Amino acid sequence: MAVPQNRVTRSRRDMRRAHDALVAANPAECPNCGELKRPHHVCPSCGHYAAREVIASTVDASLEDDAA
Ligand SMILES: [Zn+2]
Repeated sequence: MAVPQNRVTRSRRDMRRAHDALVAANPAECPNCGELKRPHHVCPSCGHYAAREVIASTVDASLEDDAA
């Protein structure tokens, strides 16, 4: 089993962890539906991107077609 050769001091340990902080997400409002979405990603609720392009269609439309 690997064993540390030297003790890591509080200072070195904390210096290493100085860059470990989590960064909060920066959600942006979808220009089409107003839902919060990740920047530079297709809106998961309406499937729009860049306020106009329909990249993905909604699921409920195809489900209603199958039921009818
Ligand atoms: Zn949207």
